Amino acid sequence: MRKKVEDLKVVALAGGVGGAKLVLGLDHVLKPGNLSVVVNTGDDFEHFGLKICPDLDTICYTLADLVDTNRGWGLANETYQVSQYLADLDAPGWFTLGDKDIAVHMERTRLLKSGWTLSQVTQDFCEKWDIETKVHPMSDSAAPTHINTKNQGLMSFQEYFVKHQFQPEVVSVVYERVLDSSPSQAVINAIEEADFVVICPSNPILSIEPILRYKEIRDLLTEKKVIAVSPLIQGQALKGPAAKMYDELGFVPEAYTVLLAYQDFLDLFIYDELDDESFPKKKVKDIITSKAQTIMKTKADKIALARVVLEQGIELLGMA
Ligand code: GDP
Repeated sequence: MRKKVEDLKVVALAGGVGGAKLVLGLDHVLKPGNLSVVVNTGDDFEHFGLKICPDLDTICYTLADLVDTNRGWGLANETYQVSQYLADLDAPGWFTLGDKDIAVHMERTRLLKSGWTLSQVTQDFCEKWDIETKVHPMSDSAAPTHINTKNQGLMSFQEYFVKHQFQPEVVSVVYERVLDSSPSQAVINAIEEADFVVICPSNPILSIEPILRYKEIRDLLTEKKVIAVSPLIQGQALKGPAAKMYDELGFVPEAYTVLLAYQDFLDLFIYDELDDESFPKKKVKDIITSKAQTIMKTKADKIALARVVLEQGIELLGMA
């Protein structure tokens, strides 16, 4: 008998805002506990001595229904008293810090300093926020992404993304690794047990590639059924610098470039139906391509796309 969509075990690879949309949909469609999310930590940084994990927070706030739905990140009903007083003190103000958000960063920093791993802290927060989906940082070791820019040299990810609003021209992206960095065992176990791995429509260069830089993860993906949803629609990113960066790095900014980036392990690529005419029909390896309505404005859109992704996975990739 064909497996039902809700019974599938799925691992989603995700960054922040774009990834969180499909993650929320998958969380609704799958049975509680059947979804694991592997989250990029290349954006993590320290600010005012606090450990800040923007993508992990976006995913968790979204799953806990605490997120500011207008922005897609940060907590709803925030206040900014600390930031306002920091401004009075002429402290750096380029990174938005809500008061409740600061509490999360403080507690995370305290737990890490007392010897907890980032995975343990994340699990603890998920329990407190009643999140049944398993959320895993890609690694417990730091692996910061740096951006090499044409006119301003090397800068940290957050300087590029937030301070300079991704305006500097990018020459290359540097994925740093502390020497013994490896994915956490929980990440490996989750992927091993998954029926499908879904690569969310997150920025392929900034959010997904840091996860794929772990050889253990990349190798494992070649043995799994992997589905990716394009974050580029009609040559544009719906948010952020994915198209601009592709262009600056010498690639055509379009969905097909995303497919090529994942070609070593990809089985099914879903691009937006608006790209149907322009999407090349030429087959790459054995990768099946398919279209869907992938723009997720409402919660219903997110749930609908999650269902389509899993149904197409079952139909086109087969599932006993
Ligand atoms: P960030 O870390 O907060 O920038 O978030 P992600 O890397 O997870 O997501 C950024 C990407 O999400 C961008 O390339 C957007 O084009 C893509 N994106 C955002 N919303 C949507 C959507 O509704 N549908 C699709 N297909 N892509 C989206």
